[in-house]
Amino acid sequence: MTKEHNFSAGPCVLPKSVLQKSSEAILDFDNGLSLLEISHRSKPFVDVMEQARALALELLGLEGKGYKALFLQGGASTQFLMVALNLLEKRAGYLNTGTWSDKAIKEAKIYDDIYEVGSSKSANYNYIPKGYEIPSDYDYFHCTSNNTIFGTQMKKFPNSPVPMVCDMSSDIFSRQLDFSKFDLIYAGAQKNMGPAGTILVVVKEDILGKVSRKIPSMMDYKVHISKGSMFNTPPVFAVYTSMLTMQWLKDLGGIKAIEKENEMKARIIYSEIDLNPLFKGYAVKEDRSMMNATFTLENENLKETFDAMWKEAGINGLNGHRSVGGYRASMYNALTVDSVKALVEVMSELESKA
Ligand code: PLP
Repeated sequence: MTKEHNFSAGPCVLPKSVLQKSSEAILDFDNGLSLLEISHRSKPFVDVMEQARALALELLGLEGKGYKALFLQGGASTQFLMVALNLLEKRAGYLNTGTWSDKAIKEAKIYDDIYEVGSSKSANYNYIPKGYEIPSDYDYFHCTSNNTIFGTQMKKFPNSPVPMVCDMSSDIFSRQLDFSKFDLIYAGAQKNMGPAGTILVVVKEDILGKVSRKIPSMMDYKVHISKGSMFNTPPVFAVYTSMLTMQWLKDLGGIKAIEKENEMKARIIYSEIDLNPLFKGYAVKEDRSMMNATFTLENENLKETFDAMWKEAGINGLNGHRSVGGYRASMYNALTVDSVKALVEVMSELESKA
């Protein structure tokens, strides 16, 4: 059975046209040379990097507003410490909304004082805390826009009195936001952009250079900015593929166009979860994620039958994360409405069988 509907949480589905083009570049990118063989300092690759950086700012509506885009390595997990190294002088506030926020807090604590302005840890992160305060003497405020594991998503962002840093790894480029509210955004490529191996960092330059510590060069945003995101050898394949995906999104009509699709996919899956008595949503309704729908079976005895049915229908990657259990349908930008319809069909078929 072909696994044609890929609901994996990441690495995940990418547009087929992008995969086609990036695989061709492995064989021949520049007059017979592979993308993997050429110098990253050669003009064809420098052009790719510049295009990728420009497209990221363009899609987010941040051109000419004092931001720089970088494509770095080490994943979002390295950003957990890099953010603190570059911005944390005395104290920062973190909103703890899931495993990834928790890990970001743990790393930042190595360097200085962290205060959790709000947390939903005691409810196993099935909601987003509201009504928290961000003190105006903090160095920055950090939040996670979409909680990949628990299926919750921040619908509103605070008017932060201090620089706002956001981990957008699992919902970057998926919905319209006023991105100029954020001073630093980071997002691993492997959900909505490309293969694992690069991370997009978009940073407002004027928040940098304010801490007293010495920052190792590879960890210093200013160093990467001064070198045009080429301080060391960049992950060429990941950057090229990310550039192609961003171009694909731009051609589609940008974030505005994909947001409509994403809203439709979310409406289809959540209405099935709510109407079908065999299933129960995990996240509280008002905080449900448009990217990752988490749900469980009301009757665990149906698990074997349901698992066999969705696999038979060509569905891949539906198992939930071990800390939630059940199922997780990840519906990143490149997943089609038809794939969501295929899943919903299996869910309603189970109801008619049970
Ligand atoms: N932040 C979020 C929201 C994630 O979903 C993930 C991974 O799934 C990470 C951080 C960690 O990313 P990486 O594996 O690139 O370090």
